[in-house]
Amino acid sequence: MKALVYHGPGGRSWEEKPDPVIEEPTDAIVRIDSATICGTDLHILKGDVPEVAPGTVLGHEAVGTIVEVGDAVTTLEPGDRVLVSCITSCGRCRFCKDGRYGLCTGGGGWIFGHLIDGLQAEYARVPFADTSVYKVPDELDDDQVLFLADILPTAYEVGVLNAGLGPGDTIAIVGVGPIGLATVLTAKLYTPGRIVAIDLAESRLAKARELGAHATINSSEEDPRERVLGLTDGLGADVAVEAVGIPETFELCADLVRPGGRVANVGVHGHPATLHLEKLWIRDVTITTGLVDTFTTPRLLKLIADGRLDATPFATHRFPLQETMAAYDTFAAAAETDALKVVLEAVPVGSDRAEKEAALVGHHR
Ligand SMILES: [Zn+2]
Ligand SMILES: [Zn+2]
Repeated sequence: MKALVYHGPGGRSWEEKPDPVIEEPTDAIVRIDSATICGTDLHILKGDVPEVAPGTVLGHEAVGTIVEVGDAVTTLEPGDRVLVSCITSCGRCRFCKDGRYGLCTGGGGWIFGHLIDGLQAEYARVPFADTSVYKVPDELDDDQVLFLADILPTAYEVGVLNAGLGPGDTIAIVGVGPIGLATVLTAKLYTPGRIVAIDLAESRLAKARELGAHATINSSEEDPRERVLGLTDGLGADVAVEAVGIPETFELCADLVRPGGRVANVGVHGHPATLHLEKLWIRDVTITTGLVDTFTTPRLLKLIADGRLDATPFATHRFPLQETMAAYDTFAAAAETDALKVVLEAVPVGSDRAEKEAALVGHHR
């Protein structure tokens, strides 16, 4: 099969890899139908995630079709369409039993494209398949569910739920890239009083308004602190969500929140940030951090199936899976391309093109 392989900082290629095989009886093999690229993949390529070994297939967000299951897999069978999420759950450790799958100590957690081969590939081995994948209802297409693999549950759990957003609250979202925009979308489920989006890029602020932000602040043009105080009778936002991952934006969130408010950090940080305890201690501010657990994925899937949540506007660019290299170029140049999420699409099985390609390379599975 072909896959997008990491070759150390700055190095990646679309190349031939051995087809994955069942290694444990709880594994399944999935043919990837749609996948996407995450900001975290770019962090890996910068060398920010040194646990990723050169030679690893990247990617942790996909929708695919089961082609083979191990002997111990009982709830899935070949032909099932499944969402393969960024978090794997062993289902048996103390954290999995508590719904904290992101902290799994039994071999799960964030492993795809990190500790094992990932999902930007024609096929992938999926460990703990019974407890880790989600069957996709027939009536939903790949685009409707693909972003449930990471950005929607991440924004919802680590942003909106950790922040304790309530009806009528003002929520300030610092950074409206894909995660910040997914925070806008899932914050709306709670009828906030006002969603305030803060970013440097006008195109992203426009997207935030389109998705439901009530006010936008371009922090290269005005001071978000003054503007948020002006919008909240001088108190500050009830909750602030950090969705960038740099020290300045974390410190900005701590400044934006009102006494008794909550700062929910979602961003992936590579450097220390200053915690101004000398100002915060007396203001009863709560700060939360976290990696997504994906315990809300079934709930979000139901909201999508019911037409209450629509993440399809995140798909700004599309590429055939074979052109994953070009897709990375477009995604990495988001400042120029306005890319939010790029969708990598495999050639549908049974299509004329798939049959011609299969005949050419003699690849039958
Ligand atoms: Zn991701
Ligand atoms: Zn576990």
